[in-house]
Amino acid sequence: MMDMNEIFGTLVFNDAVMQERLPNATYKELNKCIKEDRSLTLEVANVVANAMKDWAIEKGCTHFTHWFQPMTGVTAEKHDSFISRAKNGKVIMEFSGAELIKGEPDASSFPSGGLRATFEARGYTAWDPTSYAFIKDGTLCIPTAFCSYGGQALDKKTPLLRSMAAINRQALRILRFFGKDAEHVDTTVGPEQEYFLIDRKVYEKRKDLVYTGRTILGAPAPKGQELEDHYFGAIKTRVSEFMKDLDRELWKLGILSKTKHNEVAPAQHELAPIFTSTNIATDHNQLTMETMKKVAARHGMACLLHEKPFAGVNGSGKHNNWSMSTDKGENLLDPGSTPEDNAQFLLFLSAVIKAVDEYQDLLRLSVASAGNDHRLGANEAPPAIVSMYLGEELDGILSAIAEDRPYSKRAKCEVEVGVKVLPHFPKDSTDRNRTSPLAFTGNKFEFRMLGSTFSIAGPNIVLNTIVADSLDKFADRLDAAKGDIMDEVTAIIKDTFLKHRRIIFNGNNYSDEWVKEAERRGLLNLRTTPEAMPLFKSRKNIDLFVRHGVFTEEEVITRTEIFLDNYCKVLHIESLTMQEMLIRDIIPAVNKYINDLSRCIIHSVEACPAANMTAQADMVNKLSSLIAEAYKQVGNLKAATEKTEKIADVEKKSMTYKDKVLPVMTKIRACADSMEQLTSAEYWPMPTYGEILFSVNE
Ligand code: ADP
Ligand code: MG
Repeated sequence: MMDMNEIFGTLVFNDAVMQERLPNATYKELNKCIKEDRSLTLEVANVVANAMKDWAIEKGCTHFTHWFQPMTGVTAEKHDSFISRAKNGKVIMEFSGAELIKGEPDASSFPSGGLRATFEARGYTAWDPTSYAFIKDGTLCIPTAFCSYGGQALDKKTPLLRSMAAINRQALRILRFFGKDAEHVDTTVGPEQEYFLIDRKVYEKRKDLVYTGRTILGAPAPKGQELEDHYFGAIKTRVSEFMKDLDRELWKLGILSKTKHNEVAPAQHELAPIFTSTNIATDHNQLTMETMKKVAARHGMACLLHEKPFAGVNGSGKHNNWSMSTDKGENLLDPGSTPEDNAQFLLFLSAVIKAVDEYQDLLRLSVASAGNDHRLGANEAPPAIVSMYLGEELDGILSAIAEDRPYSKRAKCEVEVGVKVLPHFPKDSTDRNRTSPLAFTGNKFEFRMLGSTFSIAGPNIVLNTIVADSLDKFADRLDAAKGDIMDEVTAIIKDTFLKHRRIIFNGNNYSDEWVKEAERRGLLNLRTTPEAMPLFKSRKNIDLFVRHGVFTEEEVITRTEIFLDNYCKVLHIESLTMQEMLIRDIIPAVNKYINDLSRCIIHSVEACPAANMTAQADMVNKLSSLIAEAYKQVGNLKAATEKTEKIADVEKKSMTYKDKVLPVMTKIRACADSMEQLTSAEYWPMPTYGEILFSVNE
């Protein structure tokens, strides 16, 4: 039998290792610094660094790196070896406290939206001791934040840590009113990760998958997901071997990989870890995605993390399960079983309701990307409209409180906040709504709009900050309250529900009626990235982030630019890829087929003048027309892309990509897919949907 403890966390410099390897005083001091959010003295850092180095070398490491999360959405690392010159031409292995605490990667090529240019050419990385160092591929990795010398965040981790500090501050204020002695409140996240697994040989033959991560062409396969035979189906041996290997690699890294199963589309799967603190969950999710790709390659497969790798079958998302919990282990979104706990729960729940309604735009844009635009709003993922699901029971309770009436058709019980235990409502029941963008699932919220490639940092920065803001407002009211605090708590819950109930929707979010209903309610429907992203820097949103110390005004403005710029770049690459595939691969292949068909007609008639060649002639005719149309549209695409690239203003540029470039790509795809369906398999220059989606069969 496999001894889990011989595997789990073996590549992590975790608390147990620190306790074992650090002198007691150093261990205590380090923990104190983490708790009080202070930086380490160089003296302490030297001791920690030395212990880390010895541990890493014993595990076969030769290098270390500051591991950080720039705005590219993936992680970055620059490896340095431990070697240092010694006497007699020898080397010794060294790693100093200074090297542990701070690094200076030459980071001029990371997106900064101009932040670094204005302040200081270099950025620096700083150790985040709240996330453990770990070993990856023979290198000691030190999780770090990445900032400019002016202190501006150039990464996703810095603002995430700031947002966690903000919600900690505000949640503690609230808890005091309930007599709780918590010292710290963390947000927790368990991200469910969807992905596709295909054979590597097939992957390598698709330029679109290699360059863009998705197929930008491809006619539907005869079989898709209609039989619903893949979801939770038996896992194929090859996939199962991959999953086992993946689990082991993740466990070694201290990642609590827990659940694995087949998903809806053929070749689609999911992995879910046990939840943990948001900061660590973010690091772990990045590592999970990276490890998936690596392990897949080892098994002769490719792991696709794109949101919509294939048209016509489900895309991949990431469900961000989110809650708040205290250092005493209390989950603040758990209803609890006493009247006081119920009241506290309803107050925290109200904070989320207010936050989601007031900052729909931020939640929406936190999940906006070129890739996710293909998914949100299609009939497989939540719509682009942000709303939340509480379930009938909880909705009923809140309505009853708000309207001062008894609750429940059946029991007719009174609901009085903080006086009686709330009527029981089902936790995570089977009727739970799977179409809602943000569903309450018993003791946490499940934010389902994230795309599968996303770093979860962005959406959690938004969730943490907007809820911190509601809590701040509530705490102000409680501070100012004169009479019984519980009366004020009730008043807040009532006011919030009455004012923000429009954001709650328990019906089918995929229906057309909801789109109309949402419009009637005045909810935002920001369909695409170019429509959503500019709202990031609206006055209200900048003020929010500045108020809670999460982003400076400048950071918000530059980030908006970086995200929109990324959108344009992705579309640019997709456009060029499509042009290349058409002109260099598809049209030549179809020409060859036409040529052979034409020869066939001529030869056949020569050999047998009465031969009926109308079918062949028809094929030549149809394919030639399709080539003519495709060729014309590729010309249009090239011209539209070149013109769009010249636009200096990034908002306008992204909008033009959406309005002028994407529609031409859709036309070309239609031509190419028709050609595919008319061309002999022998001539088609790349694997088809069927060959890709069913490439892993055994
Ligand atoms: P599903 O039915 O969507 O798979 P699960 O109940 O299995 O939902 O949980 C999905 C994810 O939610 C898991 O990663 C789990 O660890 C996480 N989760 C559970 N409780 C919490 C919590 N309090 N905070 C954050 N995530 C949580
Ligand atoms: Mg889920």
